[in-house]
Amino acid sequence: MYADIIIDISHEKLDRVFQYRVPEELSGSLTAGMQVQVPFGNANVPRTGYVVDLTDETDYDPAKIKELSGIVDSSVAIESQLIALAAWMRRNYGGTMNQALKTVLPVKKKRRVKQKRTVELAVSAVEAKNLLEEYKRLHHTARARLLLALLLHGSADDALVREKLNITASVLRAMEEQGVIRIRAQECYRNPVGPLAKEGYDIVLNEEQQAIVDAIDQDFQAGAYQTYLLQGVTGSGKTEVYMELIARAARAGRASIVLIPEIALTFQTVMRFYSRFGERVSILHSRLSQGERYDQFLRAKNGELDVMIGPRSALFTPFERLGYIIIDEEHEGSYKSETVPRYHARETAMERARMAGASVVLGSATPSLESSYRAARGTVRRFYLTKRARSGRLAQCYVEDLRAELRCGNRSILSRRLQGLMEERLSRGEQIMLFLNRRGMAGFVSCRECGEVLKCPHCDVSLSLHGDGTLKCHYCGYETPQAKVCPACGSKYIGGFRAGTQKIEELVKKRFPQARVLRMDYDTTRTKNGYEQILSAFANGQADILVGTQMIVKGHDFARVTLVGILAADLSLGVSDYRAAERTFQLLTQAAGRAGRGEAPGEVVIQTYQPDHYAIQAAKEQDYEGFYEQELAYRRLMCYPPVWNLLLIAVSSPQEAQADACSEALGTRLKERHPGLSVIGPAEAAIARVNDIYRRALYVKCPDYGPLVRAREDLECLLKEQAWQRINVQFDFNPMNGF
Ligand code: ADP
Ligand code: ZN
Ligand code: ZN
Repeated sequence: MYADIIIDISHEKLDRVFQYRVPEELSGSLTAGMQVQVPFGNANVPRTGYVVDLTDETDYDPAKIKELSGIVDSSVAIESQLIALAAWMRRNYGGTMNQALKTVLPVKKKRRVKQKRTVELAVSAVEAKNLLEEYKRLHHTARARLLLALLLHGSADDALVREKLNITASVLRAMEEQGVIRIRAQECYRNPVGPLAKEGYDIVLNEEQQAIVDAIDQDFQAGAYQTYLLQGVTGSGKTEVYMELIARAARAGRASIVLIPEIALTFQTVMRFYSRFGERVSILHSRLSQGERYDQFLRAKNGELDVMIGPRSALFTPFERLGYIIIDEEHEGSYKSETVPRYHARETAMERARMAGASVVLGSATPSLESSYRAARGTVRRFYLTKRARSGRLAQCYVEDLRAELRCGNRSILSRRLQGLMEERLSRGEQIMLFLNRRGMAGFVSCRECGEVLKCPHCDVSLSLHGDGTLKCHYCGYETPQAKVCPACGSKYIGGFRAGTQKIEELVKKRFPQARVLRMDYDTTRTKNGYEQILSAFANGQADILVGTQMIVKGHDFARVTLVGILAADLSLGVSDYRAAERTFQLLTQAAGRAGRGEAPGEVVIQTYQPDHYAIQAAKEQDYEGFYEQELAYRRLMCYPPVWNLLLIAVSSPQEAQADACSEALGTRLKERHPGLSVIGPAEAAIARVNDIYRRALYVKCPDYGPLVRAREDLECLLKEQAWQRINVQFDFNPMNGF
């Protein structure tokens, strides 16, 4: 047996793998992640390395391979644990060991020293309060906003001030010249949250929250680590529960990881953690450079932190003594990696927690079918938070049948009820959100006479209509002017009904000329921080109506929104994907949850062509259990996850014949050697061609996961043997998206 060994992971490259022979007496006890001693280099200097892989064969001359000297220490270093986790990920999700290692290990890169600018008050609090009144009187809203934030927090990071509070450089300069604020530049890397003062903390958990914390903490104290599902609507106080658990673990010297979808990683969320944990919290987000990320990992490893907050990749924070891994909004698709290794953060968190002796808390208002299924079978313990912690009522929900609207002669994209309610809100000065339920970015163009959808000539996808009148393909970039008549039937009723957000913005402006409208979609958020700027402008009352795709329904809290319109609820049902109903239900429930977060009660209008669909009915009633029962029955009938496991094998090639031949060969091998598996395909992928690359898919189903892993290993061997040209094969376990 041979072992692949890396000598030093803090160095630039993980690619330097050295092979050693495993002595006979160690062959049973060696596993990935173990620290071993090896003779290194020409002088055979003894060095310590980590085993990253074990193989039976070697690519080198077996006579020349040195033997490793022995296992160093069985006490598990965090690196060992993460390498073992990488090995688990490679086995369960495919890809190479190197790809897995690069995902889990913090790798040091050279970096420049960065300057951090901080804004702080230069006047006393009393003066600042007087000034605040003055600013308000003069309608200097931006200045007032900044002053209020500084009064609350003492000081603030310059970047956050600009992005989240939407304060321009000229406002900052003016206030600095006035002597109201000071801007301080520091050479520092330490804390991406910025040097803000830790605040007092005064929330007392309610009975429900307290009971949950006590139950989980009791298990924790007893060392009975496990996975919990915390189910409660947004605003029911889940975050407070997380924070209390984290605080208790911290008292025992144990650090925690909090995963949040990147899109929900807002200033407010970070601030809540910050005001409770101060310097002991750090965040990872996509704007951090490699060097900054590494610094945060270093702080974690050195015991400087009690909690790390971040998206999926924060799961690999190298805490030596882990307490909790918390996954908020656990149903979110972004927890599944779309690049190799295609791991799911939920499953990987459970494995990491198992290795480390830690507990996992999954939180959601609309748990994934996976988690609910586990809870129902008792492998995950479920708790409910049944009411909102602050303002009580859930929104009143209406379902409007768009077919009926058309029959009554209403050709607008806004139903009569929605128009009426919008009118009312605008006259009362309350805010409205209009949500276009579409996974794509802009609207596609179809014929209202015959239903023809205009498609890209290079891809099997529909073209999107953009504001400049062109049709674009979002997969390959193809562009063409908008067609005047339907290419299939010649009708001139082509275009706009299933419009994109731009079109909706236009129509809304025309219908309500007095309203101030903001739009949030792919086009308006492409610039750095575009997303945050729009959200904070809306939160700051700079618009009456926010129009957008699903980006707008996640994360943010808008106290003044009392009406949410969901324009075409069933667009996401039409997607050929077994998760379509689940995703629709989650989105609708989430969107409905946006209404009435403040004092005023909220209303929600769901517009749809399928008013009787169970996903829509359940969302209207906020009936999670009802939805879950129906959806699970469907999954069971079709042998889909979570009842069975599913492996997608995605084959692509610029040559159609090649794609066919390879996928056939894989299918044949599966049928010959893995008779226990149920194989569907090979067939054309749902999108059979992208940018003139042909795509074929095989779906393999099995009640258990193990046989699918073995099938992948076998197919990888086959692919290696046959050395296919111009072929790419990817494996995706329990995929979130079709292919
Ligand atoms: P979730 O995470 O479920 O969306 P949060 O924890 O964010 O809910 O709670 C919603 C709001 O209610 C927050 O402003 C929070 O500070 C407040 N809150 C939560 N629990 C309590 C409590 N026990 N007492 C007072 N306010 C609370
Ligand atoms: Zn037509
Ligand atoms: Zn295209």
